[in-house]
Amino acid sequence: MQMSQYGNAPRAGRRYRVPMPEVIVLGLGSMGSAAAYTLAARGLDVVGVDRFTPPHDRGAHAGGTRIIRMTYAEGAAYVPLLHRTYQLWWELEQESEVRLVTPTGGLNLGRPESATVSGALTSARAHGLAYELLDADAIRRRFPQFRPAEDEVAVLDTAAGFVTPEIAISTILGLAERAGAKLRFGTAAVSYRETSSGVSVSLADGDELHAERLIIAPGAWAPGLLGDLPLRVERRVQHFWRPGPGFTPAEFPAWIWAADGLTAYGVPEHEGQVKAAFHAPPTPEQIDADTGAAPPRPDEEQPVRDWLRPRLPTLAGAAYAGGKQCTYTLTPDENFILGAISGRVVVAAGFSGHGFKFVPVVGEILAGLATDVVPPYDLALFSPARFR
Ligand SMILES: Cc1cc2nc3c(=O)[nH]c(=O)nc-3n(C[C@H](O)[C@H](O)[C@H](O)COP(=O)(O)OP(=O)(O)OC[C@H]3O[C@@H](n4cnc5c(N)ncnc54)[C@H](O)[C@@H]3O)c2cc1C
Repeated sequence: MQMSQYGNAPRAGRRYRVPMPEVIVLGLGSMGSAAAYTLAARGLDVVGVDRFTPPHDRGAHAGGTRIIRMTYAEGAAYVPLLHRTYQLWWELEQESEVRLVTPTGGLNLGRPESATVSGALTSARAHGLAYELLDADAIRRRFPQFRPAEDEVAVLDTAAGFVTPEIAISTILGLAERAGAKLRFGTAAVSYRETSSGVSVSLADGDELHAERLIIAPGAWAPGLLGDLPLRVERRVQHFWRPGPGFTPAEFPAWIWAADGLTAYGVPEHEGQVKAAFHAPPTPEQIDADTGAAPPRPDEEQPVRDWLRPRLPTLAGAAYAGGKQCTYTLTPDENFILGAISGRVVVAAGFSGHGFKFVPVVGEILAGLATDVVPPYDLALFSPARFR
């Protein structure tokens, strides 16, 4: 087992020790790191375990940036969680003095009837969010990098931006350790079982962990641990370009665009590179987490360039800076799985390619569920029971 990379920072948040259940967090990537931190900051005894040392290239979090936005085509029911997640990202930034969120504004582009546009509008109207509806002329005037067709529109989400996932996970794990969480890296949990007094988790290095409660947040390894949930793991490739001036966060928004039967997205310049990729590629490849997603192939750049050419011509003509593989763990309805599967075990899985922005609020929800604190949200949409 590797030692923690986060040092022996002083422990905070443990002055008011109360008899609370102890919790094991299995998987310390995006969601697990936030759960471990929230629990430890509340003074609970937390043990976390990860098969690697997050952040890492095999995680669903790899790739430098993740879009955060308030308008939510995936469902207006996510908006209360989004309000809270923005607040918690801000609190994490205050606590750590590390910048995690870069505001850029965001465009949801497509024909008015597309799910990307109509869903974003529905969520904005249902929750009184700040937005502007731009026609094609207005898009071109405000954001000359974009060339929408005459019948396309955009919902401008002024709250949107991007989060830096690797920096966020390092920061959150550092805060978790500082708050007293015991984190074990480089050893996989091979199985878990409930006992009369709690939960036991067997580790690949032969150790066994015991606690009153267990949170399972294994990303792409969920199918192996949670075989009765209908999850499929697919490979995705993120592409990076160097288009020159005009693409900084101050000039160029994050974007999601439904066109030609495909949905693509992009993030403004971060560390000298601009991201653009397909959310759902024409031929998705199902993979196994243990095998991992294969690195980008030379023939994968051209289809993205071709899709971009009429829409973001400067980006389509830019120098290619490389690609990065990653994994989506998808549920059949593409809503998360977030809830208890027994009196002692809580699951966070199936984030379906849109989970990162929710990391701190999911951590808070998991911490609540593992300690019998009812989260103040309607979580029916995410119930593991919907698939049983
Ligand atoms: C290309 C791409 C683009 C994306 N874009 C966005 C975006 O713009 N906005 C957004 O909000 N979201 C986005 N997402 C989705 C988001 O990144 C994921 O939903 C999120 O990272 C999932 O977090 P997770 O905790 O489930 O998985 P991970 O972060 O991968 O964490 C799971 C952890 O569990 C560990 N683990 C697994 N099995 C075991 C075991 N048996 N024992 C111990 N440890 C174990 C793993 O090592 C890993 O560290 C994107 C995802 C991809 C791939």
